[in-house]
Amino acid sequence: MSESFQAPVGTHDVFGAESARWEGVIATFAQMAYRYGFSMIVTPTFEDVGVFNRGIGEQSEVASKEMYVFEDRGGRTYALRPEGTAPVVRAFIQHSPTLPFKAWYFTPAFRYERPQKGRFREHHQLGVEALGSEDAALDIETISLLNDFFQAAGLRKYRVLINSMGHDECRQSYVALLKEYLSAHVIELCDEHQKVWDQNTLRLLDCKKAECVAVTNNGPQLPAHLCTPCSEHFSSVVSGLSNIGVKCELAPRLVRGFDYYTRTTFEFVSDALDSAQNAIGGGGRYDKLAEQLGGDPTAGIGFGAGVERLLLALEAEGVTEPSISRTPHVFVVDTTEVDVATGICHSLRSAGIAAVRAYDHRSMKAQMKAADKSGARFALLVGPQEYAAGQITIRDLRGDERTEQVSVAQQDIVTEVLSRLGK
Ligand SMILES: [Zn+2]
Ligand SMILES: [Zn+2]
Repeated sequence: MSESFQAPVGTHDVFGAESARWEGVIATFAQMAYRYGFSMIVTPTFEDVGVFNRGIGEQSEVASKEMYVFEDRGGRTYALRPEGTAPVVRAFIQHSPTLPFKAWYFTPAFRYERPQKGRFREHHQLGVEALGSEDAALDIETISLLNDFFQAAGLRKYRVLINSMGHDECRQSYVALLKEYLSAHVIELCDEHQKVWDQNTLRLLDCKKAECVAVTNNGPQLPAHLCTPCSEHFSSVVSGLSNIGVKCELAPRLVRGFDYYTRTTFEFVSDALDSAQNAIGGGGRYDKLAEQLGGDPTAGIGFGAGVERLLLALEAEGVTEPSISRTPHVFVVDTTEVDVATGICHSLRSAGIAAVRAYDHRSMKAQMKAADKSGARFALLVGPQEYAAGQITIRDLRGDERTEQVSVAQQDIVTEVLSRLGK
């Protein structure tokens, strides 16, 4: 026998009961995105590396250390997508669709990092991007969509953090102010930031080390230094969300890791997960991104939510049932020599009934065992005698009348199953 293979380090296979939970989450998201007027977008898994270098910022942790970059046989340099936003904006610029452009996606994302629980080299994201408007109403809708999705998925123990990063000018003057303040507190910062506090200063706000948290908490706060239009925009978003019942916590230290974010930035954190990895979704405005990627200046906002992390959060809250049923309705047990199961299954499936069966002419006992294991509600039994009499026996495998068993004429089986399923 030759040596077998394993999935690459930091990746995982999803199947069986686990995949029913995935289907449930994805279907719930698709439905919610539809309600909010988003249509699905599918873009390539790899893009010209420039899409991410320019979009995320070449200096960023993701672009410089974590991206999967490769040269193809034609000598072009590509990257596997580390995140979902830049490819959608690239597609938007390429096709100039009508505005506003509102798209949702389900996509893998790749980052070369140390694998650990809740962190993968290939993980999956659900997200939306909305381009073409600065209107605070769009910020409100985007955040509300993510909130409604989490609610529908069954999540309860989470909070919505919100901040505004201002536009480039008011942010620059804030950064200057922050630098001035920090210059007097360098020795109080964490070891790493004592060295690099004056490069990428805004990132210090993101630092989770107690030293940096203490110093920045006492320093100038971003929202207090926004220009008037940015400040008004932020208040409209916060009050608009409150008006529709979405409670937000102001988080003045919340800045997103990518260079393209402007104004509204938000993060949903689960209180059921460890605080080091409790972000279950987040995003913000990126009014400069389209320009950075060579398009016309176009405002935009979006979010991404990791599927693996969301499922962990749901599990931590005790929500383990998939929100969509993927157990079959019936299992057809065929012990005739003539394969009547194919025809019966086909009639049932044509009527919208999920029907499964065994193969390879297995014994009655083996088929009944498989029927039980399948989770099906009913077993439909056809042996040589039933077949000769044109009958099918229905056995309830799950309900209160578990032992009940009745015979039905073969031509009535679809109607009978439908009525028993309450359809
Ligand atoms: Zn501003
Ligand atoms: Zn720090």
